[in-house]
Amino acid sequence: MNKSLEDILFEASSLCNVKIHEYKELPVSSLSFSQELLDSCKTNVCGNYNKSWSCPPASPTMEEQQNKILSYKNILVFTTKHDLEDSFDYEGITKGMELHSILTICLGDLIKGSFPIYGAGSCPVCNDQSGKNNCSFPAPCKFPEKMIYSLEAAGINVIELSKSAGIKYNNGPNTVTYFSMALW
Ligand code: SF4
Repeated sequence: MNKSLEDILFEASSLCNVKIHEYKELPVSSLSFSQELLDSCKTNVCGNYNKSWSCPPASPTMEEQQNKILSYKNILVFTTKHDLEDSFDYEGITKGMELHSILTICLGDLIKGSFPIYGAGSCPVCNDQSGKNNCSFPAPCKFPEKMIYSLEAAGINVIELSKSAGIKYNNGPNTVTYFSMALW
């Protein structure tokens, strides 16, 4: 691949018309993992537990994911920021997640499975038009080469990642910020 991953991220942003808020390249050793975070998936707050190949219990164990992730050298982490009417603006939160997923999927399409990508929440590739999870699970994954892994299901501590990257985890009142990362 001749272009840098950063160039490809900007190409994806322009193609899908979703603005990148912040991004940073950093060594994979900056990541910290938390079994507690992964275990919290069982509470099914997001509603995707046992409903996606990217989420527990179908996703690999944290140790398996950690071994895979640490076999790469670098991370490109990026965020999108979305304004909300107020902190109860569920529609704005959902729309922000949809836009962030569009950018993440677009990046995945451009790199054609060359590098693994991890996004916010469950794999969004087969989401329906309203942005709801439409994963084929437990039937076989329809697009294994396009699958977006889940940061949370890998036990990745996004708050710590944001600190290591110098990227804001929270961009202030009445905003929501989503994270994704690619490995290479
Ligand atoms: S690509 Fe589709 S079927 Fe495969 S994990 Fe993602 S949402 Fe599920």
